[in-house]
Amino acid sequence: MEERKIETIYKVYGYDELTAEDRELVDAAKQMTQTSFAPYSKFHVGAAIRMDNGNIVLGSNQENAAFPSSLCAERTACFQASALYPGMPMRKIAIAAWTRLHQPEETPHELCFQKKPISPCGSCRQALLEYEAAYGPIEVLLYGREGIAVLPSIASLLPLCFTTF
Ligand SMILES: [Zn+2]
Repeated sequence: MEERKIETIYKVYGYDELTAEDRELVDAAKQMTQTSFAPYSKFHVGAAIRMDNGNIVLGSNQENAAFPSSLCAERTACFQASALYPGMPMRKIAIAAWTRLHQPEETPHELCFQKKPISPCGSCRQALLEYEAAYGPIEVLLYGREGIAVLPSIASLLPLCFTTF
């Protein structure tokens, strides 16, 4: 028997420590939460993808009464990115979320954003991984009010991932 270890190393930045370009991407993800359609979860998620040509492609979560028909912000964004720019590498994705659930009514909007970074669900990791495997690493910026977690790739979020068969 052999024991193996899986380790993920990531960095946490203050907003002001990010490059201007990354701040723009994080701001875009935060802004996109406003377009979320989340009547069921009341959890508003935004995603912004920096394409290889510098453009930003956006997405937000879209829910449906038939719950499995809903789509997360990350997949809304990456499917849109691939549809608009087929074959173009996605360099970075920023993700942000807020909710008013469990908050006093007078809580300012900015403080409704998650304190700790939120992370993509397994299905979104799998979907993003496919583009990463095809076109190169996608850096991940996860917004939290206490800091922005930065991971080097989708694969670092999905160890022992399924790629091809
Ligand atoms: Zn997801």
